[in-house]
Amino acid sequence: MSGLRIAADRDRCIAAGMCALLAGAVFDQDDTDGRVLLLDPTPGTNHTAVREAVETCPSGALTVDES
Ligand code: SF4
Repeated sequence: MSGLRIAADRDRCIAAGMCALLAGAVFDQDDTDGRVLLLDPTPGTNHTAVREAVETCPSGALTVDES
């Protein structure tokens, strides 16, 4: 079975919020510092939005592993 595995590096995150905007089921932002919170590291659906969020992230904090 194929799937996506997402990783988020909170040290690189600059709290731009694009990920949460594009794929709110997978990414959220911390209420205190605005940095990314990974809600679902292995999203079963919505892959297009997740890939777009990873590509759009301005700091390169998000990575996606496809297996
Ligand atoms: S888009 Fe990137 S920089 Fe912005 S909150 Fe998400 S992980 Fe952080």
